[in-house]
Amino acid sequence: MSKTIIHWFRQDLRLQDNPALYAAVQQGKVLPVYILDDESAGIYQMGAASRCWLHHSLKALNASLANKLQIYSGHAEAILLELVKTYSANAVHWNRCYEPWRIQRDSHIKHSLSAQGIAVHSFNGSLLWEPWDVLKPDGTPYRMFTPFYRKGCLNTRFPRTPLAQPETIDFVVNENTGQSIESLMLLPKIPWDQPLMATWQSGEQGARQTLQQFLDSGLNDYKVGRNFPAQHFVSRLSPYLHFGELSPYQAWHALEFRQQDDNSEHFRSELGWREFSYNLLYHHPDLAEKNLQSKFDAFPWQENTTHLIAWQQGQTGIPIVDAGMRELWQTGYMHNRVRMIVGSFLVKNLLQPWQAGERWFWDSLVDADLANNSASWQWVAGCGADAAPYFRIFNPVLQGQKFDAQGQYTRQYVPELIKLPDKYLFNPWEAPDRILQAAGILLGRDYPAPIVELKQSRLRALAAFKSLGNMH
Ligand code: FAD
Repeated sequence: MSKTIIHWFRQDLRLQDNPALYAAVQQGKVLPVYILDDESAGIYQMGAASRCWLHHSLKALNASLANKLQIYSGHAEAILLELVKTYSANAVHWNRCYEPWRIQRDSHIKHSLSAQGIAVHSFNGSLLWEPWDVLKPDGTPYRMFTPFYRKGCLNTRFPRTPLAQPETIDFVVNENTGQSIESLMLLPKIPWDQPLMATWQSGEQGARQTLQQFLDSGLNDYKVGRNFPAQHFVSRLSPYLHFGELSPYQAWHALEFRQQDDNSEHFRSELGWREFSYNLLYHHPDLAEKNLQSKFDAFPWQENTTHLIAWQQGQTGIPIVDAGMRELWQTGYMHNRVRMIVGSFLVKNLLQPWQAGERWFWDSLVDADLANNSASWQWVAGCGADAAPYFRIFNPVLQGQKFDAQGQYTRQYVPELIKLPDKYLFNPWEAPDRILQAAGILLGRDYPAPIVELKQSRLRALAAFKSLGNMH
């Protein structure tokens, strides 16, 4: 007799290379389920931009499942136990997630289901190397990226090839006891999401197209080109990887048939940084809150709501910072180079705790990812693993001049400065009055004067850093 398997979709919103779904299809009839479990997530509930993404992604997934996706909202354990009863299911399948709250919840659910004689099978669909497999020879976790990636990952096992999409899925005949996607209320009441989502096509098909576009026109110049925010050399795959619309195995192996050079190697190493972040989060479950280096616990932050709001709104008076923060607001994404610049400015020039930036990103990014976001903010702040040394403070004027030399990126997001010549685009406060006038700008009226003086705030940050004593 054919078995009934519940496939619980979580961060694996795809049909291709989905090991848990693949195994379910081979064993019997499948009931595909998604559960929005805000209750268990607690403070790690998805932010606003991620919810918009999820709404559209669930729509796409449901369409590719012939409208058979059953949607629920509430406590996952209670819902699964009920579904198992209703459909006399024999097993529940899922692909593993690695956020600490999910690990805790999932092991609890596994226990409850097993106690009722229901088989639970979990699979790896999201990481190339699972965190418990990559440890130093002495059994402790890595703290440095290069040995983690080279010795811990590449030297041990090559990532498996991706699985095909199941040819057919034999669905459980059901009357769909679930809810509508709309009833999850993932979209905001005021439709600010429309321009944001207009720049993306969420879902598995969108992921494949984005990957193809990157292979055709980004990869060949990735290593150098990835530093220039106005150029299109990065993949923009991060939200797809986060929601599992594309697996890292698909991204990794898509390079197989391309020339193997510095560009493909570099792209793979960026996927390696994603693995490193997950490894850190697994071994340090409070990565999102606590400094990895405890000596930073005494850091003299100077919390200032006015400065934080100016930063969030892209009104700091530092053009490249404002461009990045507005890109984030308008598109739910920010180029990596600019993430580093705005992060350094917030934490160092403004002396705001990195957690304030992390929370804003969490709410605003469509690729908000607990592992990548926490690890990256700690990296920027200098308190993380293999972090940028604290005294290396980005100069946002020089960064702009170097990485956006023609100013396309900055002018796109800060159109008030469109007529300012390149020479003063990144430091309008230094422009002579006649140049500002000719560009139609009065600082403080048309565009803010800088909220901090860059040189002084740099020295203040260095002094704060020194006050911790005994640092290198
Ligand atoms: P590509 O350059 O094309 O890289 C391909 C993939 O590799 C990315 O999609 C991503 O999955 C991974 N990757 C690339 N760089 C990194 C990195 N530094 N760390 C970890 N993984 C990486 N990334 C997120 O996915 N979610 C976040 O919430 C997030 N928050 C960040 C916060 C800060 C302050 C900083 C400095 C970086 C953050 N990143 C985050 C990492 C990085 O900026 C993004 O992954 C990248 O910009 C996504 O664009 P892309 O897909 O075009 O990247």
